[in-house]
Amino acid sequence: MLNIMRRKSKSKAQKKENKKKNKQKKFVDLSVLCTMVGGNRIMAFRFFCTTNISTQHHDASAKTLVSSSLSLSNSRIRIYTPVRNSIHKCTADNVKSLVNTVVLPSISSTPLASLHRGNWVKLICGASFEDVVDIRNLSLVYTLAGVDCIDCAADASVVSAVNEGIEAARDIVCLRRPWVMISVNDDKDLHFRKAEFDPEDCPADCSRPCENVCPANAISFQGKSTLGISYNTEAPRVLKDGVITERCYGCGRCLPVCPYDKIREVTYVRDAITTSDLIKRNDVDAIEIHTSGRQSTQFEELWSALGDSVGYSRLIAVSLPNGGDSTISSMNKMFSIMEPNLQSFNLWQLDGRPMSGDIGRGATKESIAFAVQLAKAKERPPGFLQLAGGTNVHTIDGLKKEGLFQTTVTEYLHDDTSTISSSVSSHALIGGIAYGGYARKIVGRVLRSMQSQYGVAASINDHPEHLLMALKEALSLVGPIKCL
Ligand code: SF4
Ligand code: SF4
Repeated sequence: MLNIMRRKSKSKAQKKENKKKNKQKKFVDLSVLCTMVGGNRIMAFRFFCTTNISTQHHDASAKTLVSSSLSLSNSRIRIYTPVRNSIHKCTADNVKSLVNTVVLPSISSTPLASLHRGNWVKLICGASFEDVVDIRNLSLVYTLAGVDCIDCAADASVVSAVNEGIEAARDIVCLRRPWVMISVNDDKDLHFRKAEFDPEDCPADCSRPCENVCPANAISFQGKSTLGISYNTEAPRVLKDGVITERCYGCGRCLPVCPYDKIREVTYVRDAITTSDLIKRNDVDAIEIHTSGRQSTQFEELWSALGDSVGYSRLIAVSLPNGGDSTISSMNKMFSIMEPNLQSFNLWQLDGRPMSGDIGRGATKESIAFAVQLAKAKERPPGFLQLAGGTNVHTIDGLKKEGLFQTTVTEYLHDDTSTISSSVSSHALIGGIAYGGYARKIVGRVLRSMQSQYGVAASINDHPEHLLMALKEALSLVGPIKCL
């Protein structure tokens, strides 16, 4: 009897121990990663992911390099006391080893699966941003950080730069390729404009507030100067005074600050024929149509002009602002236009406060409010929902407060499942988040630092110490949505 009791007690203790071990297994320790050079130290992230992630690339030896670590767990970052800070140098091999460790979350999930789970992340390079050197470097860094999609201007050289960045990242680590999305517009749109002015018209005593306010370093008064070589051509890269057109992404912040009203905005509409040729490229996966949603005629004209090219796209996204009470009817109208020729998945990008994510915490409020409005609307048309416009490091907290972060349709509308199609009931109501200005800002700081040392045409994969700093920044944004 006593033996039986002991066995029972032992089996109970064993069960408890096994349960503990299983629980620990769920937290795949992706440990270690990132070398931060500059202070002769190595910093490391420690990821705890509840997702089922292969650890085949996990290089335990990388642990030996850790002197300081950051932990991303449930969106919170904890900083650990440095264990060792005597590392003075990182080699390219060390970089690869560390990167292999950190990119694991992105290997485990296809972009489509991320949309279903609600952990889709898109990098917005900018519908008008055309600095191919920055675009290549941003694409490289955010591919390593695990984004699902990279959205860029519908321009052949920009698309090539994005794909070169992706392939350079995949040369470092074998990981799945993010989708490449190109953006077009059906009418006048904030995302499709450039600022311009003639610097020779500016009063000599102007304090140049335009230069200070520009988040893209797109206004220069350096005088005509050669600042390096052009990307891919090795031709001298000459920057002129005034607006550097390729860097201007149309945020409009310079317009109201000019005391002499010298700055104009130039709007444009992307050519549908050129765009449809681009969609057919093997290295373009998705298209996004920016629309106000108010004029279905323009939307219909663009959709028609794109013709059969939309059949080449894996995902059709429609980006629209919050039109209040008319939003749902506009969405239904646009869906009815697309539906007869829609051969892929579709997505609605909820553009809260366009191009403002880098401004601060409050910028994300409008995108969250838009998400809440759409989540409650049962009559909305099919398609994934994704936030944009003002999104930043505070967006996940905002979604959590509203009970919308990676919440399924049935969980959110718990009392009424009869109206929900079974094919979508288990999917996340909000498919994910697109990050633009904020994502470019945090990595852009590292790019500027690299360029000040190595020239404006520097490729970040040639400078591992900067690559790892940039990757750390990118992961601070992408990590919390990928690793829970
Ligand atoms: S519109 Fe924005 S990005 Fe363009 S020059 Fe003005 S401030 Fe800079
Ligand atoms: S603020 Fe206006 S006047 Fe002054 S430098 Fe800029 S564009 Fe010229």
